Amino acid sequence: MSRRESLSGDQMHSGKDAGDKGSSGKNDNSDEFLARRYGERGIKAIQACRDGKVEKYLDFFVVHGVTGTYVVEDDFCTCSDFLFRSSECWHILAVKYARSSGLFIKKEGWYQEKMEKPPETNTI
Ligand SMILES: [Zn+2]
Repeated sequence: MSRRESLSGDQMHSGKDAGDKGSSGKNDNSDEFLARRYGERGIKAIQACRDGKVEKYLDFFVVHGVTGTYVVEDDFCTCSDFLFRSSECWHILAVKYARSSGLFIKKEGWYQEKMEKPPETNTI
């Protein structure tokens, strides 16, 4: 007769992380992360993605901001914030977020051509 006064089962399920769902580790562009790390800029970036202000052309990502439209390529942006401070502006964050979340408008064509296209020419 083994008579075990067990220490009540309370402790049997103490693990917070259930080991088998290994952390994917690819989560560092999540909403929470951006908001926590970048504060307002992060939130702005996420909002822009949700509002459909991030467009992906064949060559570049383009972000429509309040004061203008900016071209983002990897860690480069054409806005003055980036050019002067050369730190990640919210456009870059927006593109990162757009990439990881898929929240962007997909455009056909090349943005560069669009930029270079002269407005309404009648030369034939
Ligand atoms: Zn920028």
